[in-house]
Amino acid sequence: MKVLVLGAGQLAQMMYLAAAPIGIEVLAVDVSDNSVVNPITKQTHEFDLAFAIEEANAITVEFEHIPEALLAIVEKSGKLSPNVQSIMAGADRVREKQLLETLCVANCQHVIIDNVEQLTDIHKKLGDKIIFKASRDGYDGYGQWRMKSASDIENLRSIFSGLDLQKIPLIAETMANFDREISVVGVRDLHGNIRCFQIAENLHHEGQLHVSVAPATGLSEQLIAQANEIFTTIANSLEYVGVLAIELFQMGDQLLVNEIAPRVHNSGHWTQKGADTCQFEQHIRAVLGFPLGSTKTTGVTAMVNIIGCTSFSRDLIAIEGCHLHWYGKTLRKKRKMGHINVVADNYLALGNKLTDLLEHLPSKFFPLLPDEAKRLKTVK
Ligand code: ADP
Ligand code: MG
Repeated sequence: MKVLVLGAGQLAQMMYLAAAPIGIEVLAVDVSDNSVVNPITKQTHEFDLAFAIEEANAITVEFEHIPEALLAIVEKSGKLSPNVQSIMAGADRVREKQLLETLCVANCQHVIIDNVEQLTDIHKKLGDKIIFKASRDGYDGYGQWRMKSASDIENLRSIFSGLDLQKIPLIAETMANFDREISVVGVRDLHGNIRCFQIAENLHHEGQLHVSVAPATGLSEQLIAQANEIFTTIANSLEYVGVLAIELFQMGDQLLVNEIAPRVHNSGHWTQKGADTCQFEQHIRAVLGFPLGSTKTTGVTAMVNIIGCTSFSRDLIAIEGCHLHWYGKTLRKKRKMGHINVVADNYLALGNKLTDLLEHLPSKFFPLLPDEAKRLKTVK
């Protein structure tokens, strides 16, 4: 059996690796030229996209920003999961907000900006601290502008004057004063069965995910139930099939949805060693109509992103429970190059392992890790 993935980056690569043991081949589409490639070697296959679509048992995506023409071709095949409505809800923040509002799912107070004149009194509606996000094509904090006080408005006005806001509006959101960021990653199959993984706690730096820890420490049963209910509401309403990730802000005992990602997600990479069936295999199972796997944890896990850095020793894999995943990409500043999963029996042991890990890593690329290692050692 074959699964065709739109997008040929690390997520397609990890789907390939998870699908191989169950006898499933994953092929990837490089969306820049619609060539069909091997997700690991990136070598181009001799056949074209039309043939690959014909041959595939299921088609899916590794990211939501798929060119519309390609999405339309693939939709016609009837093999695409998740469906186009779900992909678009992740690709377009205007649609995403509309979905959350329709479902009465709590999210940040916001205004859709399609005209710079709306900036004049935006602070009266949203307060002085606002984050502006391009409604399309943003990721890893790109396509975002932060307003720290009303005096920034004029500067933002001149930046936004250069954008086509009619075509791509901005979402202005009140900066949430959250306690922390968490995410719920789960999977829904063709029959509507849902399995959520344990909730991850996500540490960001300059708009980018650096570290996830799962299960998140100190989560009440009430918060876990709230997160799972949000997941179920959204996944059911979209008739979603596959892995879905929902980023949340925790504010006391209330969760606000930050954004939804209709795909396997960086904050679910910990499941590769930290859960019985990893998110990549779950996704492949779901889109092919196979039974879902158990989401049981195997311990407590930290996932550490390697960002903009290649200068470390692979000897770090000597640490027990430590596994490296390298994406084989060309080095660029702030680019995700790989990640490390560290699994331990408890948070204290995990903190100790992260301290050991730091010995192998250049500290300037891992600014959050020392404090997180320290914190984990104190968790009860
Ligand atoms: P991306 O698609 O780049 O992940 P996000 O909307 O998730 O975009 O924003 C990236 C990060 O910026 C978030 O993980 C969070 O740390 C911060 N952020 C986004 N929106 C808000 C907000 N309304 N209040 C506070 N921080 C925010
Ligand atoms: Mg995000």
